[in-house]
Amino acid sequence: MASLFKIDIKNLKGVGPKTSLFLNRLGVYTIGDIIRFFPRTYEDWTTVSTLQEACGQKDRCVRLKILSYPQIIRLRSGKTLYKLEATDGINLAQIVFYNSKYAAESLVKDNEYILRGNVEFKFGKYEISSPKIKKTDEAESFYPVYNQTAGINSKKISSLVKNALKMLPGNISETLPEKVIAENNLCSLNFAVRNIHFPKDRQSLEMSRRRIVFEEIFIYQLGIKLIKKNSKIKTKIKIKNEYSKEFADFLPFELTSVQKNAISDCINDIKNSGFSMNRLLQGDVGSGKTAVAASLAYTVAKNGYQVAVMAPTELLAAQHFKTFEKFFQKTNIKVGLMCGSLRAKARKLLNENIETGNVDIVIGTHCLISDNTAFKNLGLIITDEQHRFGVNQRAKLINKGMAPHVLVMSATPIPRSLALILYGDLDISVLNETLPGRQKIDTFSVDSSKRHRVWNFIKNIIGEGGQCYIVCASIVENENDIIDVNSYYEKMLESVFDKEEVKILHGKMKPLEKDLIMSDFINGKTKILVSTTVIEVGIDVPNARIIVIENAERFGISQLHQLRGRVGRSNLKSYCVLISDSKSNDSKRRFSAMVNSNDGFYLSEEDLKLRGPGDFFGVNQHGVPNVNIPTSYNDIWIIKAAQKSADVSKLDFSDPSFKFINKRIDNIFKRRSDFNSQMVVF
Ligand code: ADP
Ligand code: MG
Repeated sequence: MASLFKIDIKNLKGVGPKTSLFLNRLGVYTIGDIIRFFPRTYEDWTTVSTLQEACGQKDRCVRLKILSYPQIIRLRSGKTLYKLEATDGINLAQIVFYNSKYAAESLVKDNEYILRGNVEFKFGKYEISSPKIKKTDEAESFYPVYNQTAGINSKKISSLVKNALKMLPGNISETLPEKVIAENNLCSLNFAVRNIHFPKDRQSLEMSRRRIVFEEIFIYQLGIKLIKKNSKIKTKIKIKNEYSKEFADFLPFELTSVQKNAISDCINDIKNSGFSMNRLLQGDVGSGKTAVAASLAYTVAKNGYQVAVMAPTELLAAQHFKTFEKFFQKTNIKVGLMCGSLRAKARKLLNENIETGNVDIVIGTHCLISDNTAFKNLGLIITDEQHRFGVNQRAKLINKGMAPHVLVMSATPIPRSLALILYGDLDISVLNETLPGRQKIDTFSVDSSKRHRVWNFIKNIIGEGGQCYIVCASIVENENDIIDVNSYYEKMLESVFDKEEVKILHGKMKPLEKDLIMSDFINGKTKILVSTTVIEVGIDVPNARIIVIENAERFGISQLHQLRGRVGRSNLKSYCVLISDSKSNDSKRRFSAMVNSNDGFYLSEEDLKLRGPGDFFGVNQHGVPNVNIPTSYNDIWIIKAAQKSADVSKLDFSDPSFKFINKRIDNIFKRRSDFNSQMVVF
């Protein structure tokens, strides 16, 4: 199939210049791409209900015999209504179309059809309005539903995929080793690519899905394992003495045992192995990762090496700088902050100090590892939140003659079953205990009629000296009934709040403006921040004691939990209020999970159950396997099997499929570094 990935999509039958542009927007550039553009979901036409069974349900199929010719009714609005009588053999139904003469006339009296839509019971009769229609002999199947975009709909894509599949050779070469296919009872690629689009029946669909999910995870996992094998980098950077106990005396609190364990994990890595550390420190929001990082930095600095601490934004870097300065006040450790707003002169001075070793710990954004900054003897790199340290970045340092130890910190709890896939190349330490004295964040789920009561509650909290975050899902007014930051702010001012208390923050603002607003909030000048999700992971404002999330149905569990982590950062009681008018069961399950638990790892498991692993990868920020077909919780078994099979020691690398596999691995891991060279994944 490889060659089809070289043929431009313009060469596909049915694709003109315009269509090809639309397809490009969906990430489809070649004929191979459209074959790999898997359906988002399927319309199941195989299950046919009676009118009574279908009534009140969404998108059901009913088999109806048409009893009349269309009755035409002209409405005052100018619309034309077409009505037909029909029966499922038990009950009568009325089929209704608005303005669609063509659809109405396609139903021939005395013939049977499968109709798909929502059946309602109205005025003593069943009614189905504007249904989709198939002839009975065409209907027994699953129809693919593709992600569509303006200019190209799912139906058109479906017909193009059909044309593309015709171009596939009769039997396409395998992309998985034969042994792996046999051991796992997988169907052939040939079967899978055809049936994932147009499955004969449910079983064919399941077999194809299994094969495709398996392949994606297998290749990704193998890539990670190979990287891990190759990323064992020898280093001479070793520490002679540990200073963790000494450091603990500088802290205003006692470290918890899990924090201490994490510190000693790192110390052991750096002390003994002769290889550079490559460790992930995973801990829920507010679990105290910074103190672990600072302790390690202290030991490494005391042993005569420099430490670079990298944060994703200047604001977080500045916050870390403040924290570190406080921790190291009484020591001879010198901490520097490298940030964009440094004047040329100050920057030059700092660079000189880094080069001569006058500064021990440098905090900054990713620009720290740029070509200009020359460290005297960099021993440890710590990166905070969302960013993993790239192979390319590592390679760059090694070229400079350095092989520093690396600690990556992440606040995204992920289910254990997925951790190995996503972080398989790293050693992992986990902070899974709440800090002493912390109270549970009380979480409430209410509908929008309670908004004013929530505002009064906010007023009280501000009265007690607290602060508040409000999160809206949109910046500007929109048709989707999503409350936007701007109108929300206006409404607050019309109500019980005044201009001094409330500020707006969103992603479309200039960085400097954002920083200013954020620092006013950090300093306590602003009491309420109405923002989009830009309030950053990692921002630590202990005074913030309530977060209100509007249109909470727009967010997944993990995101809600991350947002909630902005509060509860002191020993005072904090609150999270989810406001939503959504009636969907899915939203309700998410909210009740949030109300009932504060544990990020537990919630991530719940998230996995609700959304399936494929979706989970999709939203995780680290860049992950691209399982672009619908998955469910049960697919964990496929994932586990794929993981088990990706065993470097047992695979026969001479199998012809490795030509493809190697290329895919290169692509997966290279593509991501092209995507953003500052944020390479491995
Ligand atoms: P995160 O893991 O989200 O980065 P932080 O490191 O910002 O969390 O810690 C959250 C807050 O908890 C900070 O104000 C920090 O000073 C405080 N903290 C950290 N460790 C402890 C501890 N062992 N006891 C009490 N407070 C702690
Ligand atoms: Mg943090």
